[in-house]
Amino acid sequence: MPDTRLIRSFLDSHHASLAERAGRFAEGEIAGRPEPADDAAARTEARALLELLGAGGWLEPIFDLDLRGCCLMREALGEASPLADAVFALQGLGTTPILLGGSQAQKDRWLGPIAQGRVMTAFAMTELEAGSDVARIGTTARRDGSVYVLNGVKTLISNAGLADLYAVFASTDPAKGAKGISCFLAPADAPGLRFVGPQVLSSPHPLGEIAFENCRLPADALLGSEGRGYALGLATLDRLRPTVAAASCGMASRALAESLAHVKRRQQFGKPLAEFQLVQQKLARMATDLSAARLLTYQAAYEKDQGQERITSEAAMAKAFATEMAQRAVDDAVQLIGGRGVLAQHPVDRLYRAVRALRIYEGTTEIQQLIIASELLKGAGAGRGEAGPR
Ligand SMILES: Cc1cc2nc3c(=O)[nH]c(=O)nc-3n(C[C@H](O)[C@H](O)[C@H](O)COP(=O)(O)OP(=O)(O)OC[C@H]3O[C@@H](n4cnc5c(N)ncnc54)[C@H](O)[C@@H]3O)c2cc1C
Repeated sequence: MPDTRLIRSFLDSHHASLAERAGRFAEGEIAGRPEPADDAAARTEARALLELLGAGGWLEPIFDLDLRGCCLMREALGEASPLADAVFALQGLGTTPILLGGSQAQKDRWLGPIAQGRVMTAFAMTELEAGSDVARIGTTARRDGSVYVLNGVKTLISNAGLADLYAVFASTDPAKGAKGISCFLAPADAPGLRFVGPQVLSSPHPLGEIAFENCRLPADALLGSEGRGYALGLATLDRLRPTVAAASCGMASRALAESLAHVKRRQQFGKPLAEFQLVQQKLARMATDLSAARLLTYQAAYEKDQGQERITSEAAMAKAFATEMAQRAVDDAVQLIGGRGVLAQHPVDRLYRAVRALRIYEGTTEIQQLIIASELLKGAGAGRGEAGPR
């Protein structure tokens, strides 16, 4: 359950009760669900989890644009089940372009069923040649009378083959590079949209490739205007990066809890492991790094909720620090638990397989570091009265 004491200065009054309710829900209804045995079972479980989240109203913070609420949800879910966290996260990722750039008609059509968990969304940006370098998107969208015709392949797409609605990034004007990228809403049954196949991870997470083969979308599938897609995509990622950090904090919290329980119980050399200083050092580092990550995470979310237009640097710092922290914490937990920690189905083994991807998706750690440095350099010298872009 997210501990709100440390972060209370970043929260509003309703957040403490959300944290408590979300924690109880995650512990009571999610944590005990067995890990799916294979990719097909993970896909079935993802749909079941989405229905559960939708029916309980747990997706609401996404639609209220309550970023701290989304962070509290992801922290609670990340602690209980990385797959449930992914289901919540992906509903946010696929929906945020509509919330930020959709027309009233697009919102009226899609937001209700998405909030109820009846429509599952996906965010289709990455391609074989366009990973970190999003401006290299090669999927094209050519206007043909009253429709757009899309061609291209998207890879490493979460919810591929499972989603009902894809937010797709495609170029309407390849000569313009990033400024020619547009964003479209493509229902899964659009003619010419094909699920190529799954890409199976070691942790349950529906992922795969989709292809657009002369896929015809009505003109009103365009989100905003032509050429706005790159900015919309980056604004979506900017907004949601603190939630990736929050999920990392949830996973690290679980790793710390499993470690504490184990070292108090397990005896070697005639006393509990908890009494050895080398063990205590690991625990102290895990707890300190986790607190630091939570402060960065909720500070970034707080700034956004206060109306700050961009939280580019804050979000990048939170994501880079928290995901790296969680990887170390989970690794330390496995080390403290020893051989049992690498057995399949042990909670820390599940975390070990799940946590790795967080340092990669929604922008790798290296890309976050480049963003932070670029923001720093933009501002360098400005405070001393020297000319600067800002
Ligand atoms: C589990 C999972 C789920 C995902 N879900 C989605 C999704 O739903 N939708 C979607 O569109 N994408 C999704 N992705 C794709 C993800 O966003 C990309 O994997 C990520 O952006 C990195 O791109 P890449 O894998 O092509 O790596 P690359 O861009 O090829 O990077 C490889 C390495 O090079 C480094 N690198 C790249 N450029 C630089 C640079 N300029 N300086 C220094 N180092 C650099 C990177 O940091 C990384 O370490 C998902 C990925 C994973 C693993």
